Parts: sequence; structure tokens; C-alpha cells
Amino acid sequence: MVKIIVQKFGGTSVADGEGRARAIERILAAKAEGYQPVVVVSAMGRKGAPYATDTLISLVKEINPEVNPRELDLLISCGEIISTVVMAHTLNSMGHPAIALTGGQAGIKTDANFGNAQILEVDPMPILRQVMEDKIVVVAGFQGIAPDGSITTLGRGGSDTTATALGAALQAEVVEIYTDVDGVMTVDPRVEPEAKILEEISYREVCEMAYQGAKVIHPRAVEVAMSRQVPIRIKNTFSDAKGTLISQSAAERVITGIAHLTGLSQVRVLSSRDGQQNWQLVRVKLFRVLAEKGISVDVISVLPDGVYFTVSQADGFKACQYLHEAGFACELVENCAKVSVIGAGMQGVPGVMAEIMETLYSAGIDILQTSDSDITISFLVPESQLKEAVHVLHRKLGW
Ligand code: ADP
Ligand code: ASP
Ligand code: MG
Repeated sequence: MVKIIVQKFGGTSVADGEGRARAIERILAAKAEGYQPVVVVSAMGRKGAPYATDTLISLVKEINPEVNPRELDLLISCGEIISTVVMAHTLNSMGHPAIALTGGQAGIKTDANFGNAQILEVDPMPILRQVMEDKIVVVAGFQGIAPDGSITTLGRGGSDTTATALGAALQAEVVEIYTDVDGVMTVDPRVEPEAKILEEISYREVCEMAYQGAKVIHPRAVEVAMSRQVPIRIKNTFSDAKGTLISQSAAERVITGIAHLTGLSQVRVLSSRDGQQNWQLVRVKLFRVLAEKGISVDVISVLPDGVYFTVSQADGFKACQYLHEAGFACELVENCAKVSVIGAGMQGVPGVMAEIMETLYSAGIDILQTSDSDITISFLVPESQLKEAVHVLHRKLGW
């Protein structure tokens, strides 16, 4: 019986020879422990690096920002393909038989929703055939193949999803996600230097953190792993820290972490100029206006005297313009950020909101709007106050 481990290395981990050497150490260590490693790689480096996803995008967007989505996917899939060949070639040159596969060659079948394709099916056979020959299979992350043979991509950050989808299809014992931080932390360490590592976290909590902006893992990757109960371990390619185990059985806390999203605009639609009588109906219609223009909304508050919601900064101006044209009076507040406090155990616990509100008030943070779900409370704040809001909450909420 083969014991498969899926090991995914992110962009910074494979950016240069030093990172790739560390990655190879991890692969060989897994082999020495009796695992058959299946490796998933991202494109090499971040924005500015020659083969990074953002660099490839700018190559065509500089010519004309309207790019055919099928062709854009074909282009950006190359970043991961380059990375697989470099990794497999390095392994082969060191005497460890390896083979590079595109997502399609590895059996990842998707729909044809270019730029954000969903995985429909993973055929495990192409990889298993190579594993049986004792080869280290290096798969290009972030991509699959559509029914008509076109190459698709899975959405930004989608190599994580490749890893967990392969983990599920190959019945891997664990999926290891190697990145540039020591694991899932209580908050993004780039925003809050006092961030602490979480040794364990449940699928539900990490999925919510990811949806609320914690980029350390892609939310869809967590959903795939959760549906098939594949354990995930997030680790640092560059350190020997134990990392974070994501599983069903992790104890859920009242507050687990803080996540944030930037680049938002708040739209405020005030009571209709048609008069209060009509307002009930009118405020229903305004969402249809935006839906028909393909603008998605978040942090929504529908109140008797106004409707407040957020859109991405890129859509803010257009959203107001469409609403004005449809007869609504609206205001745009740009440069907003959403700070979310997440904890699966907060439901029904009195005092969480009180503590957060007092903390933000004492620090002079402007709360523009709030929203909540069963495991999250979110605050919209001016982006200029984001760091301070995260910092005071992080201190106050127990870390
Ligand atoms: P990779 O290229 O390895 O996929 P990403 O940049 O996609 O790496 O994700 C890692 C980054 O996620 C970290 O550098 C960190 O800044 C960010 N991050 C955001 N929130 C968190 C969090 N709660 N815990 C750890 N990292 C986080
Ligand atoms: N290279 C892709 C991106 O930058 C996918 C990934 O890194 O997961 O979004
Ligand atoms: Mg990532």
C-alpha cells in the first residue's frame, strides 16, 4: 500500500535556487519517511519576478486591458508550468527520478469558467501510474483542463486548491502547504508583528478566515479538504517550525483570529427622493440595478432610513453612477477596509461585541459599518486606521 503525501510549494518557496533547495529537502525527507511525494508548485516569485503570475498578466494588459479570458488563462498557466519543469529538472539532475505534469496531464478536469474555474473531477490514474514507477510527480498548480481541451485557471491563490483536490483524489495521508510564514497565525504577521501561531485550527474557522482575507490558504482549498476529511498542515519552507494542523477535530475557541480585506468602497444610499412611501420598494430595486451590471456587494445593511454596502474600490465609482442614473441619491466613501474577528465558539457568548466596540472606541477608530455571521463579526473602517484597529483588537482579545 503506497502512502501518498501532497506537498505544495508557494511562489516565494520556489522563487530561487535557495528556496527550491529547501523545498527539495522537504520532498526527500518525506520520501525517507516512506511517503510517495506528489509535489504541487506555484509560479516562481511574486509581482516583478520574470515568471510570476502578475508579471505574465501585465505582459498583455499593458497592450490592452481587455484580454480574452481563454487566452489570459493560457498565458498565466505558463508560470506554474515553468516552475514544474525547473523543479523536476533539478530533482532529476540530483539523481531523483521526477516528472513534470500540467494540471490537465495530471487529470484535473474543470468547467470552462476561465479565470475562476471549478474542479469537476480528478482522475488519479495519470499520477498513480508515475508513482508506481517510483517517480516524484511535480504538478503545475492553479490549473486544469476544460471539456473542450482549453487550459483553465482556478482563481488567484488556486495552487492550494490543486493540492487539496489531489490530496482527496489520491487519498493522501496529509496535504502539506509550504509558504513563507510559520503557519496560520492569529492575524496576518505583515500587518501585526505580535501575531501568534495557531497550532491547530478547524476547517470551518480557517475557511472563514480565508474568505475574510487571510491569504495563507485559499478558501476553496479548505472546502475541498473538509468535504473529504483530508488533513492539511501549513508549514514554512524556510524554518523548522511545526506549523498549523487544519482538521475537523481542532477545538474551536471564542476568538480564533482576525482577518482583513482592503480595497473596498462603502456606498451609502439615502432615503429615496421619491419620498418615504416608496422607499420600501425602491430600496429593493437598487440591488437589482447593481446585479444587472454585474457588481457584487458585501457588508450589507438595509435600514429604514438608508442602505449601506461595500463594493470593490474598482467598482465604487461605476456603482454610484448606475444608481444615480436609476434615480438614487448615493454617497461613496473610498479607501475602506474590513476587519473581521473570527471564532467558532463566539455564538451565544455575551460580551464579545461589547468588548470589541469598547476597544475600537478607546483607540479612536471610526466604525463605518458592522456585519456578522454565526462565527464572525466584521467592522468597516477607514483604510488609514486598519493597522491600529487590528493592533488594538489583537492586544485586547487575548494575545
Ligand atoms: P504562497 O505564495 O506561499 O501561496 P501567499 O502569499 O499566498 O503565499 O500566502 C502567505 C501569506 O499570507 C503570508 O506571507 C502572510 O502575509 C499572509 N497571511 C494573511 N493572513 C495570515 C494569517 N492569518 N496567518 C498567516 N499568514 C497570513
Ligand atoms: N500563481 C497563482 C497566483 O499568483 C496561483 C498561486 O500562487 O496559488 O495567484
Ligand atoms: Mg497562496
